[in-house]
Amino acid sequence: MRTWDVLVIGGGPAGLAAAISAHENGGRTLLIEREARLGGILKQCIHDGFGLIRFGEKLSGPEYAGRFIERFRAAGIESMTLTFVTCIEKGEEGFLVTLVNRDGVETIGAKALILATGCRERTAKQVSIHGTRPAGVFTAGTAQHFTNLLGQLPGRQCVILGSGDIGLIMARRLTLEGARVLGVYEAKSTPSGLTRNIHQCLHDYNIPLHLSHTITRVFGQDRLSAVEISQVDEKMRPIPGTQEILSCDTLILSVGLIPENELAEKLGIRLDPDTKGPACNAQLMTSVDGVFSCGNALHVNDLVDYVSESGETAGRNAARYEGKARREIPVKASGALLYAVPQSLNLNADNRETVLYFRSREVLNGCRLTITADGREVFAKKYPFLRPPEMERLVIDFSAFGLTDASEIAIDIEVNDHA
Ligand SMILES: Cc1cc2nc3c(=O)[nH]c(=O)nc-3n(C[C@H](O)[C@H](O)[C@H](O)COP(=O)(O)OP(=O)(O)OC[C@H]3O[C@@H](n4cnc5c(N)ncnc54)[C@H](O)[C@@H]3O)c2cc1C
Repeated sequence: MRTWDVLVIGGGPAGLAAAISAHENGGRTLLIEREARLGGILKQCIHDGFGLIRFGEKLSGPEYAGRFIERFRAAGIESMTLTFVTCIEKGEEGFLVTLVNRDGVETIGAKALILATGCRERTAKQVSIHGTRPAGVFTAGTAQHFTNLLGQLPGRQCVILGSGDIGLIMARRLTLEGARVLGVYEAKSTPSGLTRNIHQCLHDYNIPLHLSHTITRVFGQDRLSAVEISQVDEKMRPIPGTQEILSCDTLILSVGLIPENELAEKLGIRLDPDTKGPACNAQLMTSVDGVFSCGNALHVNDLVDYVSESGETAGRNAARYEGKARREIPVKASGALLYAVPQSLNLNADNRETVLYFRSREVLNGCRLTITADGREVFAKKYPFLRPPEMERLVIDFSAFGLTDASEIAIDIEVNDHA
C-alpha cells in the first residue's frame, strides 16, 4: 500500500495552501482533487477582487489560484486529479483512504489528513419554493459555471433570490453578458453580501435590491415563465396579500453556502452547529486526532485570503503531527456572536499566535468584543460596527493568560446599539 505523511483532500485555494505548507514543514504530501484541474471554485470566478490582503493586488480567481498552483508545481508536490475520496477509516497507524479514479479503486495510507473539500450551495429545495419544476432555476454557482466556463447564457430575464456575494456577482456578470436582471430579492432586512459588492455589482448597474421580500412560487411548464414575490415579516414569514407576479425566464438562487463535510461525518468528527464545519482547536485539528480542516469546509469565508491562511495553519500542523495526547479546553462564543473559530485550545500545543475568526449574528453598531478566561477579562476591542457578511479576524496570544485544564474561554460582545 502506498503511504504519505499528509493527505490533502480538495485542490481549491485551501487545499493548495495546506499542501504547500505541509510540504514546506517536512511532510511527504499528496493532494487529491475530484475535478480535472486544481483551483477549486476559483476557476469559475473570473471577476477581480481576490488577494487584496495577501498580495496587495486585485486578482481574478484563476490568477489567485494560479499563484498557488505555480508554487505547488515548483515544489514537486504529488497530486491526483479526477480522483474522488469515497471512504476514510482510522487504522492503527493512521488512516486508510479509499480513492476512485479512471485506474479503478485504490486504498492508500496517511498519518494525517486535511479536509479541504470546500462548501456547497443551498438549493431551491432547501428554501421551500412551491410550484412547478421548470427549467431555468439555477444556483448562482451553476449559473456562474455556465456563463464563465461553458460560455452559455443561462437566461435573458433574470430574477435573483438572496443577496449573497455570488448572487450579487452574477447580477453584474449576467448584465454584462446582455441579460436583464429585474431585481435581487432578499428575505432579511439587511443584505447578506459584502458592502463593496452591493455597490460594485448592484448600484453601479442600476439593479434594484428589494429587502424583506422572498419568492414564494415559481410558474412554468418546460421553462420558467414567472415568479411570485411576497413581502416578509421580521421573522421572514411571507405576509398574505402582498404577492406580486413577475414575468421572467430565469431564477438564480444565492441563498447560502454549507461546508461540505460528508467525509468528516463518516469519520465521526464533531461538527459545530453554528459553522456547520468541524469544531477545531487553534491548530485546526478536529475532534478526531490527526484530521485537520481548513477553508470553506471549516467555515464559510468571505475572503479567499483567509481561506489560504487557514490552509497554511492546517498544513503546518498536519506535517508536525506526532499523535501526542491533547489537553483541550473550550472556547465558547455567545450572545451576539454567530460563531468563533477555533472552538477549543489544546494546552499541549503552541497557542501564542492563535488566529481567531468570528462573525456577529446581526448588524451591530458601537460594540465591544471581550475575551474572558475563567471570568477574568483578558482581551477587549471596540468595533464601530459588526456585520454578519464580514468575517472578523484577530490574533491572540492565549499562552499569556495562565490557562489550566479547568479553564474556559468565553468570547462575547457588549452591544450599545442594535441596528
Ligand atoms: C459557487 C461559488 C462561487 C464563489 N464565488 C466566489 C467569489 O466570486 N468570490 C469570493 O471571494 N469567493 C467566492 N466563493 C467562495 C469561495 O468558495 C472561497 O473563497 C474559496 O474558493 C474556498 O476555497 P476552498 O479551497 O475552501 O474550497 P473550493 O474552492 O470549493 O475547493 C474545494 C475543492 O475540493 C474538491 N473536493 C470536494 N470533495 C472532494 C472529494 N471527496 N474528493 C476529492 N476532491 C474533493 C472540490 O472539487 C474542490 O475543487 C464562491 C463559492 C462558491 C461555492
